[in-house]
Amino acid sequence: MLRIGLTGGIGSGKSTVAELFAARGVPVIDADVIARELVAPGQPALAAIVAAFGSEILNAEGALDRSRLRERVFSDAKQRLQLEAILHPRIRAEMTTRITTLNAPYVMLVIPLLFEAAQTDMVDRVLVVDVSPEVQRERVAARDALSQQQIEAILTAQLDREHRIERADDVIDNSGDLAALEQQVDTLHRRYLALAKA
Ligand code: ADP
Repeated sequence: MLRIGLTGGIGSGKSTVAELFAARGVPVIDADVIARELVAPGQPALAAIVAAFGSEILNAEGALDRSRLRERVFSDAKQRLQLEAILHPRIRAEMTTRITTLNAPYVMLVIPLLFEAAQTDMVDRVLVVDVSPEVQRERVAARDALSQQQIEAILTAQLDREHRIERADDVIDNSGDLAALEQQVDTLHRRYLALAKA
């Protein structure tokens, strides 16, 4: 089965694009969704995070306080690497397991940190969703309850636009409206079906 890695910066439109592929019958496996499941209460990854970061990253209900953890890792690169060392191998293993259960011409793997976390060997082809940093800031500010400063910290921690595009096999320009986005997804869907067949 052909594996397409879908990536892009925060707010570029990965989830939106993934939904459009899913609506065309393409199985989607999202690393962020898996990450959230892995840190649910009772999961071993959560215990590992508490061991590394202390119980103060839990909320009153004993669940992961995501905004507190985010504050910690985006203000300290060492802690970010520590968190990634806990999560990335587990996410990778879970994705691999899920891929084996699928039966489809191709699968879309949504991996936000595809380049940053050196996950490109997981996929046959890389699809980058591209928008300008200005559009990213706008769409993230409208979507998330993050401060300007937090948004900048996340943008800084991520690979820059030029390098991402340089390493892409395919690029979606998501600076337009949703109709323009759908059109690009349709074109790529046809291309991937043809590639999967070849
Ligand atoms: P990502 O998953 O890359 O962080 P999302 O798909 O969540 O990005 O998109 C970020 C925000 O921008 C969401 O609120 C989404 O609804 C919105 N969005 C995505 N694409 C467009 C578009 N072409 N026009 C307007 N809003 C968009």
